[in-house]
Amino acid sequence: MAQTIQGIRGMNDVLPQEVSQWQFFERVSREWLAAYGYSQIRMPIVESTHLFVRGVGEHTDIVEKEMYAFEDRLNGEKLTLRPEGTAGCVRACIEHGLLYNQTQRLWYMGPMFRHERPQKGRLRQFNQLGVEVFGFATPDVDAEVILMLADLWRRLGLTGLTLELNSLGDTSERAAHRAELIKYLEGYVDILDEDGKRRLYTNPLRVLDTKNPALQEMAENAPRLSDFLGEESKAHFEGVKALLDDAGIAYVINPRLVRGLDYYNRTVFEWTTTELGAQGTVAAGGRYDGLVEQLGGKPCPAVGFGMGIERLILLLEAQNISAPPQAPDVYVVSQGDVAARYAFGAAQRLRAIGLNVIYHAGGGSFKSQFKKADQSGARYALIIGDGEMENQTANIKVLTGEQKGEQQTVSQDQLVSVFSSLK
Ligand code: ATP
Ligand code: MG
Repeated sequence: MAQTIQGIRGMNDVLPQEVSQWQFFERVSREWLAAYGYSQIRMPIVESTHLFVRGVGEHTDIVEKEMYAFEDRLNGEKLTLRPEGTAGCVRACIEHGLLYNQTQRLWYMGPMFRHERPQKGRLRQFNQLGVEVFGFATPDVDAEVILMLADLWRRLGLTGLTLELNSLGDTSERAAHRAELIKYLEGYVDILDEDGKRRLYTNPLRVLDTKNPALQEMAENAPRLSDFLGEESKAHFEGVKALLDDAGIAYVINPRLVRGLDYYNRTVFEWTTTELGAQGTVAAGGRYDGLVEQLGGKPCPAVGFGMGIERLILLLEAQNISAPPQAPDVYVVSQGDVAARYAFGAAQRLRAIGLNVIYHAGGGSFKSQFKKADQSGARYALIIGDGEMENQTANIKVLTGEQKGEQQTVSQDQLVSVFSSLK
């Protein structure tokens, strides 16, 4: 026997029994996005490596250690499997002129790739649903994307998620804070871990984002960005909070929430859960007014978020929420060659009037066929045997619901119209 070949670590198959949860999520989220007037955009999975280095930031975890970057051996191009969607979305918008004198509310969904240590809620190929809004500098869109997510939790039936909020201010405010922060951190070089030392001068905000218990007190007492915010940034943040208050959405201000990507300014947020262990962030995002210009476009304010679909599906499971069953309408059973041939055609005629129909393939006794019919969850069984063929009739049996067990015999001529009226 030939040796089997395994899938790649951290890159999962979604098996047929899991797919209904994915489709449930996709169905609900499409309706949800339409309710807010968002249009879908589909970008390629592979982009130029340079896009992520410039867009996500050279000194981020993603670019430093998580990217699937490679050289195309056929033409030497430096390429990367996208680790996130924002940079590619901005690239596409600039390239196709989608930001000239117009605003955009966009979404996308698909696989992202990061070379991380695989564990529950952390994969190397995972799926994100991302939303990006371009062209609005006002706090209303920050509030819109945040409260949209609260609405999605409601639509999916999820409860218990926490909203964490912070403001990172604008470039000059961040620069002033950064200088103070570096000074402060220099006093702690001795206790900083390796990551901390490395980031001190490249990405000092991330030093505070540490999970190392030994560094908690140092992080707690560090200069806070909130003390460096100017009037405009403060007013913007107040504007976001006022709209969330009006919508009755509770939030926790987390002054240490900085996000792992370089491009954020002003509002940043995370929706988190305590039900998934260490991988508790389900959706995260914020404002990134500088990115479009940084990637070569005309200045254009923007807000967005990314949501981890695998984590969301784990949370659905943790809360015992499952997709409403997608049972077929009719399961067709038959016995005998002539009946089977008729039944095969009847199944197709019922599908033509919009019913979901499973034709029992492969023959077998009536008993075993009925067992399959019951397992399928179908509402009706259509039964055709030699007797029915002789009389030009068919039997319809109710398999679920209040009329379970009831049967009626109808003429074959009437079969389609009877099912039309049952629909
Ligand atoms: P984390 O702190 O968990 O590494 P992150 O800050 O790197 O998250 P983002 O880049 O903001 O995450 O991505 C948005 C969302 O995508 C996350 O909140 C999470 O739900 C999901 N996500 C990120 N990385 C992974 C991964 N490796 N596997 C599964 N989901 C992920
Ligand atoms: Mg990460």
